[in-house]
Amino acid sequence: MTVTKSYIAKSVENMRPSGIRKFFDLAATMEGVVSLGVGEPDFVTTWSVREAAISSLERGFTSYTANAGLIELRREIAHYMESRFRVRYSPQNEIIVTVGASQAIDIAMRAITDPGDEIIVVEPCFVSYAPLVELAGGKAVTIGTTGETGFKLQPEQFEAAITSKTKALLLCYPNNPTGTQLNKEDLQLIADIVKKHDLLVIADEIYAELAYDQDHTSIASLEGMRERTILINGFSKGFAMTGWRLGFTCAPVKISSAMLKIHQYAMMCASTPAQYGAIEALQNGMTDVESMKKDYRRRRNYIVQSFNELGLDCHLPGGAFYVFPSIQSTGLTSEQFAEQLLLEEKVAVVPGSVFGKGGEGYIRCSYASSMAQLQEAIKRIGQFIDKRQMN
Ligand code: PLP
Repeated sequence: MTVTKSYIAKSVENMRPSGIRKFFDLAATMEGVVSLGVGEPDFVTTWSVREAAISSLERGFTSYTANAGLIELRREIAHYMESRFRVRYSPQNEIIVTVGASQAIDIAMRAITDPGDEIIVVEPCFVSYAPLVELAGGKAVTIGTTGETGFKLQPEQFEAAITSKTKALLLCYPNNPTGTQLNKEDLQLIADIVKKHDLLVIADEIYAELAYDQDHTSIASLEGMRERTILINGFSKGFAMTGWRLGFTCAPVKISSAMLKIHQYAMMCASTPAQYGAIEALQNGMTDVESMKKDYRRRRNYIVQSFNELGLDCHLPGGAFYVFPSIQSTGLTSEQFAEQLLLEEKVAVVPGSVFGKGGEGYIRCSYASSMAQLQEAIKRIGQFIDKRQMN
């Protein structure tokens, strides 16, 4: 009998594929491309971390771990969160080790969302947020930030988006794609509204280690916020461990227990050797994190100054490893800019429009590349701009 129906769930059929992938796929077919497109460190994971994972395999630690992760790792995470960010979580029942921050976001959404619940998503943002809200049965209410405010969420626009169905605010800082960092005062204004309306915050702080101008403040460390925050963090970015697929959640017991139910059925546990590597990363990897951060800071300063010199306005982002220059002076849309730049000068960047409201008119450039690559990219972008100015 021939297949006559689609079988695919409507929620998935209606989902748009990630706009980032389209550019990577095109760039992959070309030779000599300088890529500022990828959102991952160009560093290889610290050797002692790799060695710890290898050693765990040599010692035969190849079974499942506890659903929430190795207790030794959860203890290290608890210590790390308290010493770095002044937030205290119990390793017994408030920390879950996940398969990347990606899975952490997914279980957070699924644990709190009933059909029709609204989650406020601040854009431009990481491309997976709105789709994961929708997959969890919720409604993503998107609000756009703008270049004029350095892409900071304004308290008035946040409050205006709240309805009787709002359950949570999903916030990411330092931000992907803008690099925007929120300081304690910014966070306090947001926290006051969250408390006033009795909401939750899902705080994606995966770039917390990459804050260049002042120490990162976790929103959970503000008064009255620990009990209404689900913290998302992980090893991918600060520790240069993207391929290890290791993240974690920190949340009050009740929410953690709900997330753990989903995690135990959908994932069982995160990879065992990766967890042994992560223990080493937390115990002895901080010097390397600091040295990578120093390098990123130097590159950030170079690339921001270069874009401004080329006439592409670029704010100085406080964290992550992205800059988000305006391309409005060229008269092109961000998609046209990215496509023409790739085809003519072989530089891959991501159009700001794929990151949602507020992203049109900008491009995302990752500076997690060597200085030589960055200099080459800037030279080619300069040629691209010059050609347009001459016509
Ligand atoms: N959150 C943000 C803001 C990101 O930019 C990314 C990856 O690019 C993730 C989460 C996913 O991280 P992980 O590799 O830990 O799944």
